Amino acid sequence: MLNIVLFGPPGAGKGTQSEKIIAQFGLTHLSTGDILRSEIAAQSELGLKAKSLMDKGELVPDEVVIGMIEHKISDNTGSEGFIFDGFPRTVAQAEALDALLKKFDTQIHQMVALEVDEQELKTRLLERGKVSGRSDDQDISKIENRIRVYKEQTLPVASYYQSQSKYKGIDGVGSIEEIFERISEAIKEA
Ligand code: AMP
Repeated sequence: MLNIVLFGPPGAGKGTQSEKIIAQFGLTHLSTGDILRSEIAAQSELGLKAKSLMDKGELVPDEVVIGMIEHKISDNTGSEGFIFDGFPRTVAQAEALDALLKKFDTQIHQMVALEVDEQELKTRLLERGKVSGRSDDQDISKIENRIRVYKEQTLPVASYYQSQSKYKGIDGVGSIEEIFERISEAIKEA
C-alpha cells in the first residue's frame, strides 16, 4: 500500500490535485469534506449536526471524522493505497490515523503539503464560491475563519509529520499541470 496525506490550507487545490493523483497512481480518495457534504445531501443525522459547524468554517468533532475514515478504510482494504484529502486536520486525528493504519499493518508514507500564500487562497476561494455553490466559499468572513482554524488547529499536523521525516513541501502556485508534476515527483520518492 502507498498512503499519502495531501495537505494544505483551504483553497490550496487539494481536491483538484487528488483527482489527478487517483487517475495516475490508482489510489483510493478519502476526503472527509466530500463525505460530510454527501451526509448533508442525504440529510442524515450526522450531516445535520455537521452542517452548522461547516457553515461557520469550524471543524466537526474529531471522533466523527475518525469514525468515517475507519469505515472507509475497512471497506477498501484491497486498495493500492489511500490519498487522504482534508484529513487529518488536528494532531488527535493524525494520531488516530497512525493507530488505525497500524491495525491494517500499514502506515502513512508521506505528507505532500501544498504551499500557497494567504492572499492567493482568499482570491481562489471567492472564485470557487461563484461556481461551486459551497456556502462556506461565498463569504469572506467564513473564508477568513477557515484560514484561522487552519493555522490554529491544522498547521501543527505538519510538524507532526515533519518529526517523522515524512513532510514534503510543494509550491502550490502555478498551472494545475505544473503543480501535479511536482506532486508526482514527491509521490514517486515516497
Ligand atoms: P473541506 O472540503 O476539506 O474544505 O472541508 C469542508 C469543511 O468540512 C471544513 O471546513 C470542516 O468544517 C469540515 N471538515 C472536513 N474535514 C474535516 C476534518 N478532517 N476534521 C474536522 N472537520 C472537517
